Order: sequence, then structure tokens, then C-alpha cells
Amino acid sequence: MIPVNEPLLDGNERKYLLECIDTGWISSEGPFLKKFEEEFAKRVQRKYAIAVCNGSVALDAAVVALGIGAGDEVILPSFTIISCAAAIVRAGAIPVVVDSDAQTWNMDLSKLEAAITRKTRAIMIVHIYGLPVDMGPLLEIAKKHNLKIIEDAAEMHGQTWMDRPCGSFGDISTFSFYPNKHITTGEGGMILTDDPSLADKLRSLRNLCFAPPRRFVHEELGWNFRMTNLQAALGVAQLERLELFVERKRRMGGLYQSLLKDTPGIQLPVAETAYAKNIYWVFGVVLDDTVPFDAEEAMKRLAAKGIGTRPFFWPMHEQPVFHKMGLFKESSMPVSERIARRGFYLPSGLALTEEQIVESATALKQILKDHN
Ligand SMILES: *Cc1c(COP(=O)(O)O)cnc(C)c1O
Repeated sequence: MIPVNEPLLDGNERKYLLECIDTGWISSEGPFLKKFEEEFAKRVQRKYAIAVCNGSVALDAAVVALGIGAGDEVILPSFTIISCAAAIVRAGAIPVVVDSDAQTWNMDLSKLEAAITRKTRAIMIVHIYGLPVDMGPLLEIAKKHNLKIIEDAAEMHGQTWMDRPCGSFGDISTFSFYPNKHITTGEGGMILTDDPSLADKLRSLRNLCFAPPRRFVHEELGWNFRMTNLQAALGVAQLERLELFVERKRRMGGLYQSLLKDTPGIQLPVAETAYAKNIYWVFGVVLDDTVPFDAEEAMKRLAAKGIGTRPFFWPMHEQPVFHKMGLFKESSMPVSERIARRGFYLPSGLALTEEQIVESATALKQILKDHN
């Protein structure tokens, strides 16, 4: 079976991990943590970086740090991971979803302003699958309506919008270091901001809101979202090779593109726009309506040929958990509904070989030919 994801850990990961063990710095303080935060902040041109235990809780902390709560609305794309909407709902605020663009699979910015009301406090923007949101128009709309931006850049390590790093746009921006991201710490996340008071707030929220003058006396509730020095050791080693990883992913994506470009029945990822070149966090495909089966069936047929795949995100407005809460009852979002049913991604991990890419693309072409 060709795995859908396998990370590359053949740099300094082992050496730095052994350093943690030899020095005893294995918990949430230590030299690698400090270094990882500093170097990551530099990398995305931000003043402050706060390392946390995953990319989902990074969003929880971001929403709360901005003071968003009961009665506030936050706009986000329907086509994203549950973490985004969950962070808004758990803070007591109301998620308002916008449909996707059929080509880029990012939020359709032409539908954004219609979703803004007097209660809207923030836009949670999510860059999807390796191609960033077009930040020019987004920033303009946010400024015009005086809205905060939470930027979920979990899939965008090393990506830029017009030469400006993704992760540099939000009042608060977040990353994930799950093993399928461009760099990994096993589990891990990062929160970035340029605002010193937000940075203080985020550090406090990460660490149970411990505060002077008396430890164990709390004015506010936080979480234990701390990252360990062990995770940060992996992070430092991975960050050393980010350029290489991005280049490798682009090459992998380019190979898939050239192998699949004339294949009838599928839509491929947008390779390039005026503002960015795809870094292919994953290589997604969407089946045309002429194909008589859906993504689920395609994934089954590919599995039978030894090819590991994953389905696309399932839209937030179609989540049973939110319907039970009375949310999104009447929403209809044709693009995200369609790509959720017709879209899936091929093996995309950094350890993938050219032969495996050729084998995966060949298998996909085969199952598309078989139905004709
Ligand atoms: C992976 C991902 C997350 C969640 O990160 P975890 O570290 O797995 O919690 C959040 N948002 C997006 C867009 C992601 O791709």
C-alpha cells in the first residue's frame, strides 16, 4: 500500500532529541522551545511566536485572546477542518460560513461581504491545501468593516502571498505541526502575532492563566496547551529543511500535474495564480459530474490497487454536531457540498518517491478509464 502520508525525519531530528534526553530538558521549558519560537517568528516575519501542543488549540486560544464570545459572529469558510468552527463555538460565539471558490477551493471572497452583519467581529481565514487565499481583497474588506483576522495557516509553511509569508497576515495567525504538514513535531502548533499584549494573553492562556503575584490564584481560566522541548527539538530540525521540503512538494505536485493533465473526468489543483505558486500540502482531485461514481467509490477502487487516499473536508454547515446545536439549519453551499462529495487526495507525504507518484497517477487514470 502506498501511504497517503509519511514524513521525512532524516535531518537533525535524532541528534536534537538525544540532546533533550541527555540534558534532561524534556518538558515545556528548554532551549529548543525558545529557539523554535524565535526561528519560526523570524521565518514568518512576526514579532511573537507562542508554541502550543497542536494546531486546533492554537485556534481556541486565538479566538479567546481576541475577546470574542457570546453574541459575536465570526466568518469562516464552510470547507475546512472542524477545529476552526469548534474554536468559535466553544468560545460561545456564532460561526457564519461562506461557500468556496470552485477552482481554488478557498473561501469565495465575492460572497464574503454579504455574510457580514453588525455582530461580525472577525474573519477566520483558512488557506486550503497549499494555495493561499487572495489576501489583497480580504485585507481590504476586513479593514473597511473593522474586523479582526484570524489566519489559519496550518497548511502553509513556507508559502507566501505576493512574497509575503502566510502566517504574517492575521491579528493572530496559527500553524499546525501534525505529521502530514510541511514540517512536523509529531503533534504541535504555533500562534503568531505582532501585538505584545495579545502575545502576553496567549502565553497566559497556554499556561492555565497562572499569574503573579500568587501562583495557584487565578483571575481567568486558561488551558494547558504547552508544547514540550522534545517536540520543539523536532521542530527546530524540521525548520532547518523547510525550503527543501517546499521545493520537494512543489516538484511532487508538478509531477502529478504533468502525469494527470490530459486525463478526462477530473479537476486538478490550481498550479499557480497571480499571487502564489501552489505548495501542494496535499494533491487533491475533484471528479467531474460525468464520472458515474463519487469520491468514496473512487477511493475504494484506488485502495484495491494499493493506493492510500483521504477524502476532502466535509462542510461545516453539513456537520451533524452543529445541526444538533441548531446551527446552519438553512445553509446551502453548492460548491463546498460538491467538492466534499467529489474530491479526495492522492498520496502526498514528503517521503513519497517518484515511482510511487507514477503508480498512484496510473492507478487513478485506470479507474477513470474502466468506467468508460
Ligand atoms: C491540520 C489542520 C488544523 C489542525 O491542526 P492539528 O495540529 O491537527 O490540531 C487546523 N486547521 C487546518 C486548516 C489544518 O489543516
